[in-house]
Amino acid sequence: MNVNQQAHMTSPYRQPQPALQGYAQPGYGGPPTQYAPYNGPNPGYQQGPTPAGYSPYSSLPCKTFPATLASDLSSNSSSPLDLGPVRPPPNSGPPPVSASQGYSQYTQGDVQNGPPTMSSQPHRPPVSQSYLPGSQPAYHQQYGAPHTSMQQMTNQMSGMQVSAPPPAVSGYGAFGQMSRPQPGYGGSYPGPQNYGAQPPPPAAPPQKRLDPDSIPSPQVSALPAVQKTRHRIDPDAIPSPIQVIEDDQANRSSEPFATGVRGQAPPLVTTNFQVKDQGNASPSYIRCTAYNFPCTSDMAKQSQVPLAAVIKPLATLPLDEAPPYIVDHGETGPIRCNRCKAYMCPFMQFIEGGRRFQCGFCSCVTEVPPHYFQHLDHTGKRVDCYDRPELSMGTCEFTATVDYCKNNKIPQPPAFIFLIDVSYNAVKSGLVDLICAEMKTLLDYLPRESSEADSCIRVGFVTYNKVLHFYNVKSSLAQPQMMVVSDVADMFVPLLDGFLVNVNESRAVINSLLDQIPEMFADTRETETVFAPVIQAGLEALKAADCAGKLFIFHSSLPIAEAPGKLKNREDKKLVGTDKEKTLFQPQTSFFGNLAKECVAQGCCVDLFLFPNQYVDVATLGVVPSQTGGSVYKYTYFQVPSDGDRFLNDLRRDVQKQVGFDAVMRVRTSTGIRATDFFGDFYMSNTTDVELAGLDCDKAVTVEFRHDDKLSEESGALMQCAVLYTSCSGQRRLRVHNLSVNCCTQLADLYRNCDTDTLINFFAKYAYRSILNSPTKTVRDTLINQSAQILSCYRKNCASPSSAGQLILPECMKLLPVYLNCVLKSDILQPGADISLDDRAYLRQLVTSMDVAESHVFFYPRLLPLQKLDVEGDSLPTAVRASEERLSKGGLYLLENGLHLFLWVGANVQQELLQSVFNTPSFGQIDPSMTNLPVLDNPYSRRLRAIIESFRAERPRYMKLMVVKQDDKLELIFKHFLVEDKSASGGASYVDFLCHMHKEIRQLLS
Ligand SMILES: [Zn+2]
Repeated sequence: MNVNQQAHMTSPYRQPQPALQGYAQPGYGGPPTQYAPYNGPNPGYQQGPTPAGYSPYSSLPCKTFPATLASDLSSNSSSPLDLGPVRPPPNSGPPPVSASQGYSQYTQGDVQNGPPTMSSQPHRPPVSQSYLPGSQPAYHQQYGAPHTSMQQMTNQMSGMQVSAPPPAVSGYGAFGQMSRPQPGYGGSYPGPQNYGAQPPPPAAPPQKRLDPDSIPSPQVSALPAVQKTRHRIDPDAIPSPIQVIEDDQANRSSEPFATGVRGQAPPLVTTNFQVKDQGNASPSYIRCTAYNFPCTSDMAKQSQVPLAAVIKPLATLPLDEAPPYIVDHGETGPIRCNRCKAYMCPFMQFIEGGRRFQCGFCSCVTEVPPHYFQHLDHTGKRVDCYDRPELSMGTCEFTATVDYCKNNKIPQPPAFIFLIDVSYNAVKSGLVDLICAEMKTLLDYLPRESSEADSCIRVGFVTYNKVLHFYNVKSSLAQPQMMVVSDVADMFVPLLDGFLVNVNESRAVINSLLDQIPEMFADTRETETVFAPVIQAGLEALKAADCAGKLFIFHSSLPIAEAPGKLKNREDKKLVGTDKEKTLFQPQTSFFGNLAKECVAQGCCVDLFLFPNQYVDVATLGVVPSQTGGSVYKYTYFQVPSDGDRFLNDLRRDVQKQVGFDAVMRVRTSTGIRATDFFGDFYMSNTTDVELAGLDCDKAVTVEFRHDDKLSEESGALMQCAVLYTSCSGQRRLRVHNLSVNCCTQLADLYRNCDTDTLINFFAKYAYRSILNSPTKTVRDTLINQSAQILSCYRKNCASPSSAGQLILPECMKLLPVYLNCVLKSDILQPGADISLDDRAYLRQLVTSMDVAESHVFFYPRLLPLQKLDVEGDSLPTAVRASEERLSKGGLYLLENGLHLFLWVGANVQQELLQSVFNTPSFGQIDPSMTNLPVLDNPYSRRLRAIIESFRAERPRYMKLMVVKQDDKLELIFKHFLVEDKSASGGASYVDFLCHMHKEIRQLLS
């Protein structure tokens, strides 16, 4: 080999290109439009994890790999990603069919249907019940200094006597006493056997109330434990999410997080921090539940800590971070390991003067192709290491060759097809008008490469009710032509030429069509719709055009018209809480699962916008969107004035956002662990390849790992997520994310380096999938049990000896109980009477593809006090805990959970403040139906509206503002999100749940 040969690439790195142009929408920041040039590696770069030392080829651990694993890239395999070694199937099978969903915003209509009436409020259990049997000591908790290597919190929970149930819901006696425990608050715990059950029977009326001022303040001093029995626990003495979030923000936001050190847990997902990619993928792309994996499976089983990663392959990075560099390895495609097919990355170790490299994943040694050869420096590193993103960075993108294309053919640019329900309800609500008007502008903002003046994406239009109307919008036509297909049993596309067109070429015809559609159907009396044939029509059109693409379906009702995939109304609330509840989340027919499979094969992603006035069976309608990487949006009782903004903002973002088509994702790992289970919106036909007809920048996939051998502390555990996809211009690309974590032989090291927010993301997705097969009660018990085992293992093996009455939590998991409780009492696992089955199915699907930031705020909403707003600066006030007792009667609060946004107005808010925000000095005159604040020219109003816009910009879905006045009936909805409190559906308060967890832990320890 000629060692002097230069790599043949002169300019291997092209600047990455933003796929879309921002559409200056309020509330949607849009994607980055500028990228910083690659300035080479950071001077402070440290080489990332070092792969295991070179071992002779003959000693490679071959036994786990069949001999016939690698074929060459030109095989007929549908994807080179398929070519990895065949590993044994995971213990847990592929994920079951996940149904999709829609969650209604709480519109006024929803409200009329349903928040529980006062009389249906659950009552606290009888006062005589105590937290624990009298023989048990009280809970102590100290937030002490770290003992040895780990932190223990053993703050004492001291308390007050619970001698009376709390006042009725209508009494707001506690308002105005911020941070002050409420009398009787968090009443006695009903006992484990009732945990998670429906609300307990009504209790006896209150007899007396404690004076809050007489409550002893929490002290660390040791009262004899037995005397503290039946004392209530001060909420201020238990771990506070706000405190943890604030501390992390204060300690970890000032310095950039450099990813060069293996096994370093990133700052919390709530912390604003910059990332420097120094060899491991940014936490924006991958977050792990643990950054010290146990070396053995026995240790993993003992701790019960799930080993999982939440991967968001196409995540949009903050504006000040450069997107991945694009690397072109030339005609032969990306350099890969010969055996496991892992892509060139910082975990490959170059040996023999640079002529070969050893794979960090499987240890196999591969020849370096001559064009890629480079000399090594005295440390064994290639001298061009820092000039090549694939060798120095955790994330990069390779251009793929034709071998990586379906059928070895360069793909056509994708197409977008808009399919609009024009039945009576859709027309009458103004929806059809709104869509057609918006579309004229929106078509200018289709995703495109920045180097291109126009988008390559072609568009097509269909309208439908019981029959389908296709439109010929060919540029040469003076007027669009309609073709009706009334035989919906065997769907076909009646025209090929003129259906999918370039927007600019056909602009005039398209505009004419969009003008005519609302007129054509203005007087329709047709109320019935079909649904499956609509998807089939889009699918057939993409097949005929031989391209991938996305369907945007705007649909209003249960498809009861005679057609394939016809549905019946099976809503039956009586099944809730029974063993048959799971059937409500399963699709009512297998038809859509089969259709989804066909869509995935074609790269046909389906986004569904639902506008129901009644049950539409989201669990069934959502099957195709969820298995094709699509999204479901739901606007219950849609009305243009109240919901138009939200819908249009969602639609704009959905159309414009970065998306890859025909994607296959494969997660490779180093010897010792493997990916065994996957959660998200995708389809899997085998146990390793995650297939996504579409993968957009908001979708995350959660991956669980299990041991199949021992891991070593020296080499750590490596993972590489490779996503092969077609860009919006039809380019085939490979996005590769690499991450290495440490491995440990001591449990204490595992518990020192976990990420609870990611753990909760995993638990929620795991639980939400489990309800397809198990009663919700069983699922809740499983979660509680596993968490108790996690915490008891810590207590038993890692904490220093202390009295059994102390609850000791690992520092990085001290919020596990509060967050877990939020998952357990969520509408999916413990529904209130007011939530519809469609909403539950919808929420279930939403959570399935959430990243860690989204799941965090979804389960533990952000609640900001606005009384003391810094109107000059841009800092946000410190959030308060999501509990009613944190609200002050004289205050204004903003609450968001990523889907909902509330402005709560206390009854005693100062007139000046009301004037500044609402333009009225009177609490009574605030209009609770407003969905946006009036635009007023004063500093407070400007700042508050800016905060609202910044919240909206942060979330993938537009949040409609709801103004909630204290004591108004809407307040019940708001209170549902005060997740530290006992919920109307019987969900435990944080304090009660913590006691319950403590009891569970103690049982496991005894
Ligand atoms: Zn390998």
